[in-house]
Amino acid sequence: MGTKSRETIYGGSVRAAAERVREARKQADRLAIEAWNKRMLAFKGPAQPSPTLGDALNAGYGYLEVKCLGCDTHQTVALDILRRSKATPIHELERYMRCKDCSQVRGYAYKDRRDRGRRTIARE
Ligand SMILES: [Zn+2]
Repeated sequence: MGTKSRETIYGGSVRAAAERVREARKQADRLAIEAWNKRMLAFKGPAQPSPTLGDALNAGYGYLEVKCLGCDTHQTVALDILRRSKATPIHELERYMRCKDCSQVRGYAYKDRRDRGRRTIARE
């Protein structure tokens, strides 16, 4: 029997392979978010399908920026404090966002539910 443990023989390559997977996933998530942002900026939708909350966080995107069609201002929400499943598509999050200014003016929680026309993008 050899004296080297499996850890000594294979440990490095197993860890290196796992690291490559992590890097590739991060890269893929990043590209998916970039593609979604591009579509939102260029065509203003459709917002679905969209990457998931987990994808956005893994890619290093910590915020969702939503432009309110009521008043043209931007609202930003931090993705890492949301109590939602990591599998939630990020386009679903915008439905829960209400505009503070518009809500105050209108006297009720103003949420824009139009699918197209508004601009929502993920931010780092
Ligand atoms: Zn507004």
